[in-house]
Amino acid sequence: MSAGEARPGHCSWHGGFSWDVVLVHVIEQGSGPGGGVYACLPCARPLAKRRDASDFLREQIEAMEDRAALRKAAR
Ligand SMILES: [Zn+2]
Repeated sequence: MSAGEARPGHCSWHGGFSWDVVLVHVIEQGSGPGGGVYACLPCARPLAKRRDASDFLREQIEAMEDRAALRKAAR
């Protein structure tokens, strides 16, 4: 199984808790360490379709899709 483990956290897009979130690097900071925010699957899906989405992000979101499917099947 390659889905990995879910990472619960706060989604910065809809502003609430989610059972699985992905780290999305979208905040550009000139000289700082750079920022990362987390997004849940429904919020992250459109991000993966963006032209500037990284391969890493797409892979992370694919893994989230797998976990979501497994979670659904487990019910
Ligand atoms: Zn969200």
